[in-house]
Parts: sequence; structure tokens; C-alpha cells
Amino acid sequence: MIADTEGPFGIMITILGIEFTEWPLERVVEECLNFIRSGSPHVVITAGPEFVMRVLRDPSLRRPIERADLITPDGIGIVLAARWRGTRLAGRVTGIELTERLLIEAETAGWGVYLLGASDPSFQSALSAIRRRHPDLRVDGRHGYFSEEEEREVIDQVAAFAPHILLVGLGQPRQEVFVDRVRDQLNIPLAMGIGGTIDVLGGTVTRAPVWAQRLRLEWLYRLVREPRRLRRQMALPVFAWRAWREGRHSARP
Ligand code: UDP
Repeated sequence: MIADTEGPFGIMITILGIEFTEWPLERVVEECLNFIRSGSPHVVITAGPEFVMRVLRDPSLRRPIERADLITPDGIGIVLAARWRGTRLAGRVTGIELTERLLIEAETAGWGVYLLGASDPSFQSALSAIRRRHPDLRVDGRHGYFSEEEEREVIDQVAAFAPHILLVGLGQPRQEVFVDRVRDQLNIPLAMGIGGTIDVLGGTVTRAPVWAQRLRLEWLYRLVREPRRLRRQMALPVFAWRAWREGRHSARP
């Protein structure tokens, strides 16, 4: 029996060893603002079923998970797994939604945002779109295709900008490992992996239509648009089976 625990960030729901916050988007945003105001380094991870399965296979990912301040349910599979345990989550808290909210808050508060990730054309078009939508925002960044040897230079570029918010879209789990490596070194109040969000902001990848999101089929839409995701999504049935079995044994009364 795995009990849910009351932590500093509300009730934490443990799904296959990862502690998710029960909080909805707006409450998570509020906490992110507290993290930034505190000035000390904080990390948020948005995790879906594929990432959970990845962590089970790769113990080196435990460190970023254990050091993260907040882990949000980014995938309908996590919401369902929570339900199997007797917890009704308000919904997903995704990287794209958090990013959009944080850009608004950062513009108002005068915080600097650094975006790292995606191909150069995609990054450039995201940056232009953000600057158009948020003319008063201090924002910069760079594309995410760099070698291990170039990483030092990339870290120096981030440090030179001294962002309040660092958004890293290198894909999971590389972005989480990167964020974990630089979090204390760069002393960034809020760092977060955002997957393919830069592509969405730049318009090179479109999100599933709202009806598909409502029907909880965003994963299927992405699979059809990007068939290369099939290999990763093969982990989903295994996740569902394991999470369901775990849920049966640990459901809240
Ligand atoms: N990416 C990158 N550098 C790399 C490999 C990938 O910047 O070396 C970017 C890629 O262009 C895309 C993002 O990382 O913008 C990964 O997107 P995906 O939708 O696969 O994210 P996930 O599903 O992992 O959240």
C-alpha cells in the first residue's frame, strides 16, 4: 500500500514511485511565482506516462526527480492512474500551458526568460512570436542542437542572460538531466523542461484541436502527426497496466 502524503505542495500522489502534485494549473503557477520571488533555485518537471516508464528503466533519472521541487501530471495517463487510486485530478498541467502562463507573469513582473531548445528556425519563429505577444518581456534564448563539447558555451550564454525563468526544450529526459546539472550552478529561480513547446509557440508544430484535447486524444493526434513517437508510446500500455495494478492496491478509501 502506497499512501498519498501531505507535503509542502499539497497532497502528493505517488504513481510508480514518482510523487505528483495534486494541484491544478493555476495553483502550480502561483507556486512557480513563489519560487521565483524566493530567488533560490527551483525546478519543476512536467511528467507523462512515457517519462515515468523511462525513470523506471533508467535509475540515473532518479536524481533529477528527487531534487525537483514540483512534478506535475502532464498526460492523461497520469490523470487516469490517479483516478485508479481514488484521486480526482482537475486535469493535466502541461509544459505548454505552464509556459504560456509564465510568459504573461514574467512580462508583468519584469522577469527575464531564457528559452533553450528546438531547431534554429523553430526557435527563431517562437522568439519572434513571443516578442510580438509580449512586447515588454525580457526574453532571449538559443536553439537546442549542440554537442557535449559545446555545452559549456551554452551554459555560459544562459548565465550571461541571468534569467529568472529558464525553459528548456531538448526533449525528455535530456532536458531534465540538463536542468538538474545547471540548477545550482546558475542559481536560476525557476527552471523547467518544456519538451516540444518551442515548436508549438513558433507554429512549426500545432497542438491537437480542442475537441481532441477534450476527448483526451492529444496523444493519438501527436502519434498520427509524428509516427516516430510510436516507439516511445509503446510504453503506454505497460504504464497503464502497472499503474492500474498499483491503483487497485493503494486506492484511497
Ligand atoms: N531537441 C533539441 N535538441 C536536440 C534534440 C531535440 O532542441 O538535440 C528539441 C526538438 O527540436 C523538439 C524538442 O527538443 O523541439 C523535443 O520535442 P518533443 O515533442 O519530442 O518533446 P517531449 O515529447 O520529449 O516532451
